[in-house]
Amino acid sequence: MTTAVAGRVRAAAAALRLGWRASPRGVLLQLLLALLTGVLPAVVAYVAKLLVDALTGAGGPHAADGTRVAWLAAAGAVLTGATAVLNHLSTLVTALVGRSVNLEVQDRLYERVNAYRGLRPFEDPATQDRIQLAESAAQGAPHDVLDFLLDLVRSTLTIAGFLGTVLVFWPPMGGLLVGCVAVSVLGQVRASRAMADTAAAVVPTTRRQFFYRRLLTDARAAKEIRLFGTGPLFRRRALDGLRETTGASLAALRRGVLVQSGLASVTAAVAGVAAVVVARQVLAGRITLGDMTLFTAAVAAVQGALSAIVMQLGRAEEALQLFGHYLALIGSPPDLEDGDRVPAPLRQGITFEDVWFRYTPGGPWALRGVDLHLPHGRAVGLVGVNGAGKSTLVKLLCRFYDPERGRILWDGADIRTMPVKELRRRIGATFQDFMTYDLTAAENIALGAPEHLGDLDRVRVAATRAGIDRELKGLPRGYRTLLSRAFTDEDEESGVLLSGGQWQRVALARSLMREDAELLILDEPSSGLDALAERQVHQALRRHRAGRTSLLISHRLAALREADLIAVLFEGRVVERGSHDELILLGGRYAELFAAQAEGYRDDPDHPDGPGDLARHPVPTPVPTPAPRSATEVPDVPEGAR
Ligand code: ADP
Ligand code: MG
Repeated sequence: MTTAVAGRVRAAAAALRLGWRASPRGVLLQLLLALLTGVLPAVVAYVAKLLVDALTGAGGPHAADGTRVAWLAAAGAVLTGATAVLNHLSTLVTALVGRSVNLEVQDRLYERVNAYRGLRPFEDPATQDRIQLAESAAQGAPHDVLDFLLDLVRSTLTIAGFLGTVLVFWPPMGGLLVGCVAVSVLGQVRASRAMADTAAAVVPTTRRQFFYRRLLTDARAAKEIRLFGTGPLFRRRALDGLRETTGASLAALRRGVLVQSGLASVTAAVAGVAAVVVARQVLAGRITLGDMTLFTAAVAAVQGALSAIVMQLGRAEEALQLFGHYLALIGSPPDLEDGDRVPAPLRQGITFEDVWFRYTPGGPWALRGVDLHLPHGRAVGLVGVNGAGKSTLVKLLCRFYDPERGRILWDGADIRTMPVKELRRRIGATFQDFMTYDLTAAENIALGAPEHLGDLDRVRVAATRAGIDRELKGLPRGYRTLLSRAFTDEDEESGVLLSGGQWQRVALARSLMREDAELLILDEPSSGLDALAERQVHQALRRHRAGRTSLLISHRLAALREADLIAVLFEGRVVERGSHDELILLGGRYAELFAAQAEGYRDDPDHPDGPGDLARHPVPTPVPTPAPRSATEVPDVPEGAR
C-alpha cells in the first residue's frame, strides 16, 4: 500500500516536472488562474452577504444606503462575470499546456521505443502490453495529473476561504463535511483503482481485438478472407473482444456511479440539516439574513470544492496508475548493453565461436554451437533447410539478439564490445522478411540510407545493381510513383503494387544504398525471382561484392555458386563446409540437398529454375564449370578456386 502511494507521489512529481519542462509559462499562468478562481468565490459570497444585509437593514449604519446597494450589486455582478471569464481562460490555458505536454510525452515514448536496440521487446507480449498502456497514458495522463494538482490548489483556497464561515455559524458542520469527504475519497479511490486495473487487465484482449479488426480491413488479408470465408469468424472474434473489454470497464464504471450516488445523497442530507439549523438561528435573531446567505453559499462551495477534489482524485488516481506504466517504460533499462570500442575497418573477418541461441528462455535451441568464419573480402554461402537457423544467424550477426553462449567476433573482438550503431552502420543487409513501405519507389530505396533521402542518382545506382531500375523508371511516375494503393500521392493519384519478386529487388536496392558497408548480408535475396532475373541480380551484385565480406543465404544451391565457401547449417549447427565440389565429394547433407534439387529438374535439365549445368554433372564429378556467364562479368575469384 505504502509503495503504491510512493509510486503515485513519484508519478505526480514526474508529471509536474514534465509540465514544467513542456511549458513553464503555461504552468505559471495556470497556477495564477487557479489562485484567482480559488479565492474569488469567497469574495463573491461575501459581497452577496453585504448586499443582503444592506437590503434588510441588518448591516449597521450604512445599511439602507441606495448607492451602497447599487455598488454592492454591481461589484457582485462584475466579480461573478470575472470568475466565469477566468474559468474559461483557465480551460484554454489548460488545453495549451496539455498540448505541449502531450507532444513531449509522445516524443519521449517513441524515442524510448526506438532506443530498443534488439528485437526482444517487440516479440515480448508483456512489453507490447506495456507499450500499449504507455501509449494510452501518453494521450492525457500527465495532463490529467497536472490538472488535478492545480484543481487541488484552487479547491483548497476556496475551502480555506469558506471554512471559517461555516465553523463560525455552526461548528459541527465542519466535522460533518470532513466525514463526508473522507468516505467519498475512499470510495472514489477504490473505484478509480478498479477502473485502472480493468484498463490494464483488458490490454491483451484489446490488442487481440485490434488484430482481428485490422485483419478485416487489411488489403493483404482480403484475398484469403474471401476465398476461405473467414470473414464472419474474424468479425465475431473482433466483436467478442470488444464486448469483453467494454463490459469490464462498464462494470467498473457501474460500481463508481453507485458509490458516488450514495455519497451525493448523504451530502445533500447534511446540507439540509445545516440549512435548518442556521435558519432557526436567523429566526431567533442571533444572525442576519446576510449571514445565512453567506453560510449557505459557504456550505455549497465547500461541498462543491470537496466533491471536485474527490472526483478529480478519481481521475488522477486512474491517470497516475496509467502514467506509472509510461514512466516504467521510459525508465526501463536498455534491452541490450551497448559497447564503446569502435573497431578499425574489417581486415581478418568475422567468426562465430560456439554460438548457442534460443528465442525464449525455456524454448528450443535455434542455434546449438555454431562455429563459422567469414573471411574478409570473401563470400560465404550458407545453405540449409527451412528452420535450420540461417536467418537467426543473420539476426545475431546484426546484434538484434545476443547469443546465450559463445561469441561473435569482429576481427577478433566480441561484437558486444562495439557500439551497436557502429556495428550496424557497417552492415548492408536484405532480410528474408523485408519491409514494403507505402511510400514512393525512390523513398522505398532511399530509406536504406536516410541521409541520402533526396539523392535520386544514388537511388538509381542501387536500383540498377539490384536489377530493378528499368522497371521503376517505367512506372507511371517513374521513381516518384507511390508503391501502395493505401494512399494517394500529392495529385490524388493512387499508386501501383509491385510483384513479390519486384519488391524483393527494391528491398535489395535499399540494402545497397549503404555503399560503404563492410559486410553484405543477403538472406534469400532472390527467392522470389525467376532464374533469369536471379542471374542478372547475381551478376550485378558480384561486382558490388568485390572486395567486400559477404554472407549469401539461399535454399537454392545454384544461387550460391557465387560463393567462395559454402557452409551447411543443419539443426542449428554448421555440419559441413567447403567448396561446392568438396561438399559434393563429401557425400553428406549438401550432396543430399543438391541431389534432391537436381532430382526436381532431372526431366527438364534446361528448366530455368533448375541447377542448370551443375545438374548435368553426375555426382560427385569434380570441378563442374559454372554456367557460361555474360562477357561483362569480372570474376572476383579464380575459377580454379571453385
Ligand atoms: P531459416 O532461416 O534457416 O529457415 P530461422 O533462423 O528463421 O530458420 O529459424 C530457426 C528456428 O527458430 C525455427 O525453428 C523457427 O521457428 C525459430 N524462430 C525463428 N524466428 C523466431 C522468433 N522470432 N521467435 C521464436 N522462434 C523463432
Ligand atoms: Mg530464413
